[in-house]
Amino acid sequence: MNIKEEIKEQLNKRTLLLDGAMGTMLQLYGLKSGECSEGWNISHSQVVQKIHQEYIKAGADIILTNTFGANRIKLRSFGRETNILKINEIAVNIAKDAIDKERSLEKRIFIAGSLGPTGKILEPYGDLKVSEVYKNYKEQTVILEKAGVDLIILETFYDLEEIKTALKAVKENSDLMVIASMTFDKNLKTIYGVDPERAVIVLENEGVDGVGANCGTGPEVLYKVLKIMKKVSKTYLMVEPNAGMPELVKDKVVYPASPKIMADYTEKFVKLGLNLIGGCCGTTPLHIKAMSDKIKN
Ligand SMILES: [Zn+2]
Repeated sequence: MNIKEEIKEQLNKRTLLLDGAMGTMLQLYGLKSGECSEGWNISHSQVVQKIHQEYIKAGADIILTNTFGANRIKLRSFGRETNILKINEIAVNIAKDAIDKERSLEKRIFIAGSLGPTGKILEPYGDLKVSEVYKNYKEQTVILEKAGVDLIILETFYDLEEIKTALKAVKENSDLMVIASMTFDKNLKTIYGVDPERAVIVLENEGVDGVGANCGTGPEVLYKVLKIMKKVSKTYLMVEPNAGMPELVKDKVVYPASPKIMADYTEKFVKLGLNLIGGCCGTTPLHIKAMSDKIKN
């Protein structure tokens, strides 16, 4: 059985738990706003590994590499594009080391390569060409597959054209399973005006293995989004909500949704029939632990 079949076999049996946030966890360890988070794979690899280990101990079945912004176009905005190979390779090795350190749990953990948006705007509104987007994700996918990820998760995209192109690049240049997830606002559309039905139909037409929603305003809105997706989707469904909308309390960013709130929503997500559940910004190993306990029950 190849890895894709193995993951699908698991998904046909049960709900898989993803990990929680990486970026906001790194901020707790001192990552400054505006700093390149993926650069920490090189400068603070022990911290990244520790976060992975905490998520594994909390019950995650799938951990996401710290590569969300490690595509060439995004890295260029930090002047780090020459580090692209090293940043992605180390990210996968850190994830492997974390799994190895937690091997006493005797649990199969999968490594998902995280791919995020370029941060640039496509033509005709911006100056980014579709061909550049394709090349951008082809490059990162090839590196991640060679380094040993088990699947790819495209996350936090707003532009359907961009995620569709990224999906195409992953599918045409790897044998990996790929899940594509967009970010929706309170009005149940992405900031580019894409609604959940259209996202599902277009991405499934392109051959995606799973679709979903992540980040944004928290579990309540994403529950509504996934309910709509569930009606039209023929593939696996994923959700990774933020721990609510961040609030500024005494100059500190605070995420309001407690582990208990996330666990309560996890129950609702399971009942809705979702296949992959995890957390985005503001979620911590405590959230994932509470969600894991809920799934086990
Ligand atoms: Zn997020």
